[in-house]
Amino acid sequence: MRLLLNALLTTMATSRVGRVGIIGGGVGGCSAAKTISNALGSAVEVTVYEIGRGPGGRAATRRTREFPGLHVNHGAPTAQIVTEEGRKAIEAAGGEEVNGGHGTLNSSTGEFQEKEEGGWLFVGEGGVMGNLAASLIEGTGAKVKTKYNSMVRGLERTANGDDGSWILRNGAGEILGEADWLVVAGSGVAHPRWTATFGNEPPLVEAAKALGDSQLDSSLKTIASQTAAPVIAVFFVLSGSEAQRWLDLPFKVAKIEGNEVLGKVMIQMTGEEGNEVAVVLHSSRAFAETNKGVYGSTSSAKRVGGAKSDKGKEDELNAMMLEALAEIPQIPEVPMTCKYGPVLHRWGNAFVVGEGLSRENSMCRDAKVAFCGDYVETDAPLSSIECALLAGKQTGEAIVKEIKGGA
Ligand SMILES: Cc1cc2nc3c(=O)[nH]c(=O)nc-3n(C[C@H](O)[C@H](O)[C@H](O)COP(=O)(O)OP(=O)(O)OC[C@H]3O[C@@H](n4cnc5c(N)ncnc54)[C@H](O)[C@@H]3O)c2cc1C
Repeated sequence: MRLLLNALLTTMATSRVGRVGIIGGGVGGCSAAKTISNALGSAVEVTVYEIGRGPGGRAATRRTREFPGLHVNHGAPTAQIVTEEGRKAIEAAGGEEVNGGHGTLNSSTGEFQEKEEGGWLFVGEGGVMGNLAASLIEGTGAKVKTKYNSMVRGLERTANGDDGSWILRNGAGEILGEADWLVVAGSGVAHPRWTATFGNEPPLVEAAKALGDSQLDSSLKTIASQTAAPVIAVFFVLSGSEAQRWLDLPFKVAKIEGNEVLGKVMIQMTGEEGNEVAVVLHSSRAFAETNKGVYGSTSSAKRVGGAKSDKGKEDELNAMMLEALAEIPQIPEVPMTCKYGPVLHRWGNAFVVGEGLSRENSMCRDAKVAFCGDYVETDAPLSSIECALLAGKQTGEAIVKEIKGGA
């Protein structure tokens, strides 16, 4: 059997049997890319299109040219893993298990309580969350093409079934690439929230109108029913004795209880010598919801997508979150000048809310569209890194099966 498979793959390697275009270089898209590329090697051309400057998505790590050694996990601080399959997947992405310093912080008393949640906690290699997605496509011999700073803003399929291909376009209408299979790993191109930001119909919804594919229509209906919980992140970096005051606190990741503005506070080691501290604040969902229209000047939505943000409002929210932090007893004062920041970043779609897209509808065979990411049903909870990892694997495996079946 193995010999037969190897012979098939060798034949396939000499004649390319498929092109897979993946929209989104988060953990989900990179997990799918790795699965497909590892199974089919050079027989398939896998391209990841990503708005950001690199992979990671909501599990990305902010860096700055100004201070080359700095890295700040401004999205997901850790991954809670609850399944054995998820544990294997995150280990394969170079994930490192962490323990201790996770719990709740009472915002009136400043008291921290350590809380063990079920499962295991992981971070990316070296504590860098962005390394999870990066190691999936950059390591292990996977040959995946990446197109960063590339936002897919137009989609069309030339025909249904085997004869057609997907055409991916940028905002100027130019062709970014073509693919036989399209993997939607960032649900934005398929979700009505696209219209609120960019004005026109979501590209996949527009393309689906011409296809008349009932399964794709049903998938799009489920995606449209999902909503998103936003989070505003504010982060800054300190060094020397100012960093030490934060290191003396008993927590690394604390959920803040009883605070209308803040939801979480994280303390991370950073810097070229690993002795500086990044403090990351996540707002409460309610605070982010009542303060819309602010993205942060370096956000991808603003940089590549052209979404408008209000700088005055950005400074105001930044100040409000820092004030809320200062009111918590025992929290060190934030100096007037930090080594870096405070920087604000809005995660408009931090968490998916609603029903997950079913496994069955994550694979639309006739339209040759597949979906993956933390909005797709897996054995892990929706809206988690584990879910994104497993959904990427499951969708990747389904595409491999289709490509092999048709070869
Ligand atoms: C503030 C915050 C805190 C979190 N905390 C946790 C936590 O503690 N534990 C946990 O497990 N999870 C947490 N999460 C959730 C976790 O980060 C996500 O579940 C996971 O990263 C989702 O991965 P994904 O690949 O499905 O989606 P994403 O990471 O969103 O990846 C999708 C990618 O697609 C790109 N993209 C979208 N549209 C286009 C387009 N048109 N063209 C090109 N590229 C496009 C985006 O830029 C993005 O990089 C948190 C998230 C946030 C924001």
